Amino acid sequence: MAIKLHVGERNNDTHVGPDLIKPIVTCVKHKDALPFLTETSTLYRGRRSNAVDHIIQAFDHGFTYEKTGAPFIMADGLFGNSEIEVPIDGVIFDKVNIAREVVFADALITVSHPTGHPGMGLGATLKNLGMGLSSRIGKLRQHSSVKPYVDKRACAYCRKCMQWCPVDAIVEEQDQAFIFTEKCIGCGECLSVCNYDAIRYDWGVESADLQKRVVEHALGVVLNKRQRCFFFSFLIDMTKGCDCFGGRQERIIPDVGILASTDPVAIDQATLDLTARRHGDSLVKKSEPGLDPGIQLGHAEKIGLGSRNYRLEVL
Ligand code: SF4
Ligand code: SF4
Repeated sequence: MAIKLHVGERNNDTHVGPDLIKPIVTCVKHKDALPFLTETSTLYRGRRSNAVDHIIQAFDHGFTYEKTGAPFIMADGLFGNSEIEVPIDGVIFDKVNIAREVVFADALITVSHPTGHPGMGLGATLKNLGMGLSSRIGKLRQHSSVKPYVDKRACAYCRKCMQWCPVDAIVEEQDQAFIFTEKCIGCGECLSVCNYDAIRYDWGVESADLQKRVVEHALGVVLNKRQRCFFFSFLIDMTKGCDCFGGRQERIIPDVGILASTDPVAIDQATLDLTARRHGDSLVKKSEPGLDPGIQLGHAEKIGLGSRNYRLEVL
């Protein structure tokens, strides 16, 4: 059983910590399952853009076997390119690129920490599934409808990207790397191997499109294990930016509690409703008032990922 979490970028102190993960691991083990903690590499450069850095970051934040009771295993390999292409009946995509080990896991638990998000409005369970469990190609296809390019000011012409490009789309031009967009297949390999942060791409997919792309990848994650998925959301220490932001962030809304559901759409709808009911403004209204998270919820419902209707049981 895969347990998807977020270990937090360097110095982030609002992610869900190992002490809250351990009871989930213990519970899974009591059911005779074999849990492992898992994550994928990020597109942007940081402490989590490849498996080695990511695992070290996880350990730095206490996600060790000793503290959680489960090993930490990257779901998308060393460089984020270990993936399975999953066919889906989406509106934008007919197949999505999902981290390999998650596709092969028998069951899945996500542990999400709802926050605001500058692209999605709400970063919670749907985002944790779709962006958080897709491969590098999958992430690129969610964020960008265009191919990467080389920032000439940053390129040191080390040629590493040229050695890794699977279709030889990168050539030399005036002692710098140049990407032939006609040949590029958008795999993102060059992004992960460039040590000079010289490979760039347009993050500019507008919010509505991004939200829909993310939830279609979320569908690909759960498709082969629909009756064996469970979702937790920790409505604590909620911030304007997500846990990918390094450093301390201000808590913008008082704690609400912990939500649990078998429906990834219902749990995110409840997150918005509960934060609005308890504090006047929802988490998104307080963090990204110009964005509409109803787009991701509505699209998720439309493609059959879950329902926005729910019954709240207070334990
Ligand atoms: S890996 Fe980066 S620095 Fe090296 S040639 Fe490619 S773009 Fe330039
Ligand atoms: S995204 Fe992939 S195919 Fe395109 S230039 Fe980079 S390595 Fe080559």
